[in-house]
Amino acid sequence: MDTEEFRVRGKEMVDYICEYLENLGSRRVTADVEPGYLKELIPSEAPAQPEPWDDIMADVDNKIMKGVTHWQHPRFHAYFPSGNSFPSIIADMLSDALGSIAFSWIPEREGCNLTDVADETLAASPVCTELETIVLDWYAKALALPQEFLHYSPGSRGGGVIQGSASECILVSMLAARAQAIKYLKLDRPEADDSEFLPQLVAYCSTESHSCVEKAAMIALVKLRILDTDDNCSLRGETLRKAMKEDEENGLMPFFVSCTLGTTSSCAFDNLLELGPVCRSRPCVWFHVDGAYAGNSFICPENRHLMKGLHHADSFNTNPNKWLLVSFDCSCMWVRDRVKLTSALIVDPLYLQHKRSDETIDYRHWGIPLSRRFRSLKLWFVFRRYGISGLQEYIRNHCRLAKKFEELVRKDERFEVVNDVKTGLVCFRLNGTDRLNQDLLANINASGKLHMIPSLVKGRYIIRFAVTAERETDDDIDHAWEVIQEHATDLLNSYKI
Ligand code: PLP
Repeated sequence: MDTEEFRVRGKEMVDYICEYLENLGSRRVTADVEPGYLKELIPSEAPAQPEPWDDIMADVDNKIMKGVTHWQHPRFHAYFPSGNSFPSIIADMLSDALGSIAFSWIPEREGCNLTDVADETLAASPVCTELETIVLDWYAKALALPQEFLHYSPGSRGGGVIQGSASECILVSMLAARAQAIKYLKLDRPEADDSEFLPQLVAYCSTESHSCVEKAAMIALVKLRILDTDDNCSLRGETLRKAMKEDEENGLMPFFVSCTLGTTSSCAFDNLLELGPVCRSRPCVWFHVDGAYAGNSFICPENRHLMKGLHHADSFNTNPNKWLLVSFDCSCMWVRDRVKLTSALIVDPLYLQHKRSDETIDYRHWGIPLSRRFRSLKLWFVFRRYGISGLQEYIRNHCRLAKKFEELVRKDERFEVVNDVKTGLVCFRLNGTDRLNQDLLANINASGKLHMIPSLVKGRYIIRFAVTAERETDDDIDHAWEVIQEHATDLLNSYKI
């Protein structure tokens, strides 16, 4: 494809995207296909010769779209939102065009006999790093995070980074915690191999934490204790304190706690004010706070009571690619002490070293991959085009619509609301058995008119209703509730027959 063809096809694609998003409401929300459907429609080998563009686009319509679950659909109420917006899409186009691989501010090959080559000629892409530090500070300030999490704050040792997912944020914070704990234990046994300390280490989370904490512990080869929550699905300080004490008495060393602000199942909030001091009372516990979805809501001052106690945290993550109109992937993570994070992840071969590492951030030491896309660009575009006021308006609209949905559910005595609705997620169930609720959800999802997913809260099957679309309206909520009520009536009648 040459520049002229790109100009034409690129503009056509913008039109295609606009048409898709504008008319999304008329499609089924979910794909109606069987596993393996695409294998029947697409050749088993890549084409040997170039194919006409129109043929490719025809296949997008006829073959690809069939298998799409439309996450941007106004009737998509599953999971959490998948952030998306025009400024973010456009910024990603530019990032793709620049194609920078921004692992370091400037990877000068020190010691490689290239001393007469100016530093600048070897720069990986300074702007990718610099914009990331700046917009992460912007976002930290917009969320009113503790000053210690900022890059540019007097005396700060902290800073923010964009990771690919919340799972990665939790994994790297656990790896950093593990490195700190091993360093601490080595004070008494400097001759021991690092691996000898692993059986001693224990991490904590709650039954409501996301499964990625369990995965991180599997990867890090450490024990994980999954603690019970109170009746509101909140992890409490006393539960953590007792568990740590018990483990310490058994010769183990608590080293990492992951708690959640806005759990996946029911958007519950752990009690940081209680958990923080328990962590601080131990010699070497890293306290991570996962706000993958709900963390974004702290951009609205009225939601900040939900983050009380965050000043105790060593690290915090929230995903703008969930609830801040930024397309996947963009998961922001802040740490109180960047050296504690990077010291767990620094591997510095000669070909990546440079003279200016003291003055600059090298994001390759802040995460797992070496290569990184220019992801801060889309966050910057979104901040600038919406402004903080526009983003607050978006979050407030979702919270308001969730409250409206909650009210509708409460008015119908056949149903019960089972979570404390504080954000854009409402959990509810039809009075009766789990089986009845499973049937209700299965029928609704099979109709293709709405899409929701279930979860288990305190052992009970519940249905999650998340407000997700950028421009979700009151009518969308009314419509969703009508569909749910109709299916409930049909189901209850069929049980009577
Ligand atoms: N933490 C919470 C609270 C979540 O809700 C999720 C996903 O929904 C995750 C972590 C995992 O997110 P990711 O897909 O970015 O790894």
